[in-house]
Amino acid sequence: MSETVLVTGATGFIAQHCILQLLDAGYQVRGTARSDGRTQEVADILAPHLSDQARQRLRQDFEVVAADLTSDLGWDAAVAGCRFVLHLASPLPSSPPKDEQEVIIPARDGALRVLRAASTAGVERVVLTSSVAAICFGRDRDHLFTEDDWSDIDGPNIGAYERSKTIAERAAWAFMDSLAPQSRMELVVINPGLVLGPLLSREWSTSGELVKKLLERDVPAVPDFEFAMVDVRDVAAAHLAAMVTPEASGQRFICCIESHAMREVAQILADEFGAKGFKVPTGRLPNFLLRIVAIWDKQARLLLPEIGQSVNLDNSKIRRVLGLAPRDLHEMTVSMANSMIQYGVVTPRR
Ligand code: NDP
Repeated sequence: MSETVLVTGATGFIAQHCILQLLDAGYQVRGTARSDGRTQEVADILAPHLSDQARQRLRQDFEVVAADLTSDLGWDAAVAGCRFVLHLASPLPSSPPKDEQEVIIPARDGALRVLRAASTAGVERVVLTSSVAAICFGRDRDHLFTEDDWSDIDGPNIGAYERSKTIAERAAWAFMDSLAPQSRMELVVINPGLVLGPLLSREWSTSGELVKKLLERDVPAVPDFEFAMVDVRDVAAAHLAAMVTPEASGQRFICCIESHAMREVAQILADEFGAKGFKVPTGRLPNFLLRIVAIWDKQARLLLPEIGQSVNLDNSKIRRVLGLAPRDLHEMTVSMANSMIQYGVVTPRR
């Protein structure tokens, strides 16, 4: 069996960190993108971050092939000869979509396409990137959430993205249940919180929006909500560990540190980057003002259900089973901001 790993959504933030770690670990990697001819573009992003040895092997060990989550085309060829699949591709909108099916259909049907192709091709294990969005939304936040919890897609204040991740993950587990007993394929699910940490290029995913907005002082003060966050390098490491750890089979893993208020992120940015000309707001934005801003600002609208909410997620399983020792809030925040400055995503205000 070859040691080729398929990584779906190779143009994405977390996927590229997974690909880096896979190449550095000596795997051959095939990525997918929605369109043809993306190999060189992604290789150019990865190259500066790779070990010398992996960089030299990049040309022969890395390619990107075309496959869209909304079409059957390309998936059989993409999984052919792969031992493992990391399925990360999924829509991550930065504002609520007009029609929630725009997000739900690619997330659910895409996961099923990948699993179907993988099981037919004899893939050993698929690691699916779900989210805490599939664990603690549409529910009272009155207890410590564990991997036994599921978001309620009919509950109050649950958005299209959270629905899409819940529906896609449930569909994936149902697909696994439907496999013939002789099928050897295994599934592991990683459920990250909000992902911070260093960008690899000047592209930033939706999860970079908050740090970018704070550095650019796009908001006069900080909305009152908290997130469970995690460094992208730890999310990638969790995917690699999930791929090869025998006991991980058939399990989901919450992947985040304890929750922190957005104002803590703002304070770290103000302390570290204030002297460099970034006027980061640290005051609290009154809730009524966020509600007003949300009338015209779609991104603010996405945050409304989280106002004043706290969330406690138990990350002991990923530490215990996958040996993850996640980086702290300061490290993930500062490294994301530094990379945004390095790539010119943000510049100090004059
Ligand atoms: P990105 O937006 O950077 O990456 C998403 C990837 O999915 C991109 O490569 C994108 O391709 C691809 N994609 C979207 N729609 C389609 C489609 N129809 N067909 C094929 N590919 C598609 O996001 P992240 O790297 O942050 O997220 C990766 C995964 O992690 C997602 O499953 C997300 O839900 C999950 N996650 C992310 C968190 C975060 O805070 N970032 C938190 C928890 C989970 P293209 O470049 O062409 O748009």
